Amino acid sequence: MLRFISISIFFWRIMGTKTPSKKVLAIIAAAGLGFLTACSINSGKNLPHLGIAKPATLEEIAEAKPEKTQLYMYDNDTLVINFGHNYAQQNATFGRIGTLCEGYGVERNVLPKEASAIGARAVGHDYTSTELALFYNLARGQSLNRSERQLRELVIENGLIADVNGTYEPVQTESCIISFIHNSQWRDILAHELSHAEYFTNDTYREYCNNFWNEVMTPDDRKGFTNFLRWDYYDITNTDLTINETQAYLANTCDMYSSSLFNMPEGRADELRAQFIKDSPVPSFCETLDSKINGEQ
Ligand SMILES: [Zn+2]
Repeated sequence: MLRFISISIFFWRIMGTKTPSKKVLAIIAAAGLGFLTACSINSGKNLPHLGIAKPATLEEIAEAKPEKTQLYMYDNDTLVINFGHNYAQQNATFGRIGTLCEGYGVERNVLPKEASAIGARAVGHDYTSTELALFYNLARGQSLNRSERQLRELVIENGLIADVNGTYEPVQTESCIISFIHNSQWRDILAHELSHAEYFTNDTYREYCNNFWNEVMTPDDRKGFTNFLRWDYYDITNTDLTINETQAYLANTCDMYSSSLFNMPEGRADELRAQFIKDSPVPSFCETLDSKINGEQ
């Protein structure tokens, strides 16, 4: 997941302010409201029927236009929804799933009544088939909104989960769904979410990330990332989620990445990023998207 508020944190951290002043908060609130309003214009709130996903390369997904919601299958195991400008539609669809799977202090065996901050204000989402099955099993007999019902049909139709004798189960455990919106940070969002997909579906990459977290990062490095994620409402008691988010920021959060975001000494975050990418079994999506964007200019 990637949240819009992260950009705000970035701004007030680079301003050298430990706690944002009322003036800074007012600017952040105004910018956020403007962003949300812009994203909501001409957007339908409900997820439309999207049918069977067509296979697509990263380049084809990056060419997607923002006018309407579109569906792709990437690398045979990752369902991708490009919500375009439909920010409200994305979070009506995934808000409660994000809250259940990633929210700090959230019970994992109870369907959330509503989306908390982490689920309601995300600009990108990522969940495994196992997490989708968990959500829809908890939701049996409970009311779902129209987008959540549409998503259930979508992930069944596209073979991520199946109803087996009254229980939803993942069809294959290493498959997932990711989504992004098409705002000015869309390249960051798409790369970040694809990084999560890689972590979910690629054993070699997941092992590399775990090793980097345990063996290469120092206790202070880990503290920097963990504190940031806790501030951003992630469940940092879930080590797998913490490592997954850390790798996505390290490898694939193109421009929204800096030492100040993680309260690290100047240059340390860049040093870690370079080290991570140098030995990674998966190339950085930011670089591929960069060449795509530069090629368009
Ligand atoms: Zn994330």
